[in-house]
Amino acid sequence: MTAHPASPANRFALTPIGRIESDYPDKFGIPRQPGLAPAARARLVLLPPYDDPLSVRGLEAFSHLWLTFVFHHSPERWTPLVRPPRLGGNARVGVFASRSTHRPNRLGLSLVELRGIDTGNGGVALELSGHDLLDGTPVLDIKPYLPWAEARPEASAGFAPAAPARCPVAFSDEAAAALERRDDAASLRALITQVLAQDPRPAYRRGAEARVYGVRLRDVDVRFRAEEHEGGTRLRVVALVEDGGSP
Ligand code: SAH
Repeated sequence: MTAHPASPANRFALTPIGRIESDYPDKFGIPRQPGLAPAARARLVLLPPYDDPLSVRGLEAFSHLWLTFVFHHSPERWTPLVRPPRLGGNARVGVFASRSTHRPNRLGLSLVELRGIDTGNGGVALELSGHDLLDGTPVLDIKPYLPWAEARPEASAGFAPAAPARCPVAFSDEAAAALERRDDAASLRALITQVLAQDPRPAYRRGAEARVYGVRLRDVDVRFRAEEHEGGTRLRVVALVEDGGSP
């Protein structure tokens, strides 16, 4: 017999084992899956009592990890049908046929690259890249990725059969100069290019428009516009505004 939904057997108390410090301070602009912006960096800082270096012994030999986490900045309400951005924001599919952040239990799953493990100061921080996680995301579990069991290139993937198309990205002279003044110029340029190539504008915004958008990456507000380019659309970075600075 199955237990009643409210019985103790169906109540789970989950405690975060760590928290994400991320290049993405805001949801807007975060790519819709990991791997789309390989330049994105994060640290997963383990929390006591899970921050014992013994708990990650052997993990350094794995290049990729699965993270389960909570979409803590998504509303708790959910509906059976969602509108995936991939379908232009109009067509609906079942929540369980989607990777929507608006889902029961708000559980997220991301495959990330492990670049290193920092066990300085007695704690543990995992250095990650290619993630899709908001700053502050509570992480519930870490598991090493097993390519022989989990990579299935022959799999069919419904309405998301391949990576989304990329849009070209350009920098104004001023934005390029502001970028060059930074110590992290090369990695930030790569991150901006990879994030904007996803065209983070709302699904109904396609084509050129006068409006200037801002996407926050690291400590910078990246201002960009959509312009005509060779019969299509290109996103042009027009300014970089550093926290507390002016363009
Ligand atoms: N790879 C994950 C996430 C897919 S949805 C999965 O499949 O479960 C990706 C979106 O999640 C990103 O565009 C970002 O805006 C959003 N996101 C990331 N971390 C979040 C958080 N802590 N709370 C709410 N939304 C988050």
